[in-house]
Amino acid sequence: MNIPFVDLNTQYGSIQSEIDEAIRHVINDTAFVGGEYVAAFEKAFAAKCGVRHCISVGNGTDALFVALKMLGIGPGDEVITTAMSWIATSETITLAGGTPVFVDIEPDCYDIDVSLIEQKITDRTKAIIPVHLYGQPADIDGIQRICDRHGLFMLEDCAQAHFAKYKGQNVGTFGIAGAFSFYPGKNLGAYGDAGAIVTNDDKLAKRMRMFANHGALKKHFHEIEGINSRMDGIQAAILSAKLHHIDEWNAARQKNAAFYSEALRDIDSITVPAIRPNVKHVFHVYAIRSRKRDELQSALNAAGIATGIHYPTALPFLKAYERLEHKPSDFPVAHECQETFLSLPMYPELSKEQIRYVTDIIRSKQND
Ligand SMILES: *Cc1c(COP(=O)(O)O)cnc(C)c1O
Repeated sequence: MNIPFVDLNTQYGSIQSEIDEAIRHVINDTAFVGGEYVAAFEKAFAAKCGVRHCISVGNGTDALFVALKMLGIGPGDEVITTAMSWIATSETITLAGGTPVFVDIEPDCYDIDVSLIEQKITDRTKAIIPVHLYGQPADIDGIQRICDRHGLFMLEDCAQAHFAKYKGQNVGTFGIAGAFSFYPGKNLGAYGDAGAIVTNDDKLAKRMRMFANHGALKKHFHEIEGINSRMDGIQAAILSAKLHHIDEWNAARQKNAAFYSEALRDIDSITVPAIRPNVKHVFHVYAIRSRKRDELQSALNAAGIATGIHYPTALPFLKAYERLEHKPSDFPVAHECQETFLSLPMYPELSKEQIRYVTDIIRSKQND
């Protein structure tokens, strides 16, 4: 049996007529960049999130960058974020002119460890970017309390957590803004690059929309200098079609995660993911931890099972952050996790038999 890490083809097969029709409409109307399909997706996504504004952009990295810029982050400002994420989270802080300040992760839920945030706050701190890593909402109440106490913005990185919920409310709607990626492999994925920012702040929404479109809301009326980061019509139409299915797909991911955890929980050398109370974890990634991670990964690979590591180097230890001179003991949990994390195949269409095959291989390796 061959099991890919993600399987976008099977999903396409299940909604092919909807997708093909969506693409045909856009081409017929030549609504290639911006236009009615993009406006319709923004409206539908905002409504489903339960938020006033959705501003579409070219990708998730731009979503973070545009939000940071329009929040006024610039030279001299520090932005606190997690040590374990994709580099987009921290590189956009630098790109805006600020300095990323990393905080270690929770040993059980792998999001930013709220108990370690306050010691990193200085008079230059302007914002905190929690990442809802793997689809698990961060400890939002804890982060919100710190933001309130110190007058900081909370900008949520929701790239891995579309419609994950914290106490019943969608992520992205707690902070001043939420940034989403629709990269093809994300829970809600386009057929190319796309991203969006959501917010309830009318003024910020207007500024972000302006900045992402050359500083203009109306053609030729450039109020500020901006960038070109727009969603294209084909991606918007595909995303609108897929938005109807996201709840069932997220539910399937949760079910698959439960199958994995049930089958692996009693193996001593393996740690299955913990789920925070009061959250809906949408399992963009299903990561176990094992001290024999590399052997396990080779054994799974030999059995035709593709796996991943998210992430093999925690952000502070990347060459890109050499200048910050961090050592493993600065972020002991993230450092331990980069050595032990192993992401198993995860997508909605994964079958119970496929999961059984994966867990049987893992179990057989424990007795070697
Ligand atoms: C994917 C991702 C991004 C960036 O999104 P792109 O659309 O690839 O630019 C940002 N943050 C996190 C946590 C991600 O996983």
